[in-house]
Amino acid sequence: MTIPKKSESKDQPLVHAGDAAGDLLARWGFDPNNVAILPDRHPQYRECARHGRYPISMVDDRDVIRYMSPVCPVCAAEQASRRLMESAAIPKRYIDCGFDNYVIEVPGQQTALDVCRDYADHFEEHARKGYCLILCGNPGTGKNHLASAIAHVVLAKGHSVLQVTAYDIIARIRQTWQRGIGNSTELEVIRGFAEVGLLIIDEVGKTFGSDGERVHLFEVIDHRYRDLKPTLILSNESIGGVEKYLGPAAFDRLCQNGGLLLFDWQSHRRGREYKSDTAACLRGEL
Ligand SMILES: [Zn+2]
Repeated sequence: MTIPKKSESKDQPLVHAGDAAGDLLARWGFDPNNVAILPDRHPQYRECARHGRYPISMVDDRDVIRYMSPVCPVCAAEQASRRLMESAAIPKRYIDCGFDNYVIEVPGQQTALDVCRDYADHFEEHARKGYCLILCGNPGTGKNHLASAIAHVVLAKGHSVLQVTAYDIIARIRQTWQRGIGNSTELEVIRGFAEVGLLIIDEVGKTFGSDGERVHLFEVIDHRYRDLKPTLILSNESIGGVEKYLGPAAFDRLCQNGGLLLFDWQSHRRGREYKSDTAACLRGEL
């Protein structure tokens, strides 16, 4: 008997392990489709309590059995997304907020959802033009929820996202005034905020709003404006309140190439008495 050389055995037709096992079963008089009596049949599966069945093995086109990580791929993707959201400093309360779990109870919320979803879905296009978005109005109306939903999508597309409060920006810039070894310069801090793919500035209008604060926020907004970088503004103020707080120069830069969404229905935190149902995209081309 001659043992075939390795190179000869390569030309043998490939038989899949599952098929071979099925053939054997049929030859022995068993039902070849009865998976229960084929404990080593592949692919093998595991069960995730939340997402159902997922494969932990497969047979590749060379008939080699490949074992995969015995972790539910949907759970793994969720964990990766969670880590990205944490790296973007999205507040823990809003990390799981996406477009799919945004509850619509008044027509204005549908407009808000549509505008924000479009912004996220076409982020590359908007980012090229430096389109900004201002979400302002009553507290507890879902602005942070939609901002987090945008962050989820933009992060998944591979862009960097950072959420900061207006106070954080002011404090970080003022920190550079203290002389110390290793301290960043004011320009380095501003550039840091300016380089992020999408910067979300939260709580605009919450601090006092002195001229000095306005200058710091303007520096960051202006740097981003000149580099065509999109900025998302979140504020519990009215439109006039946001403009007053940021100053007309920064406000104009944000509005010039973007949209303004007014959330003027009542807070979901205070019950369900909605006084108004308008969400208007008041400026720009969004
Ligand atoms: Zn799972």
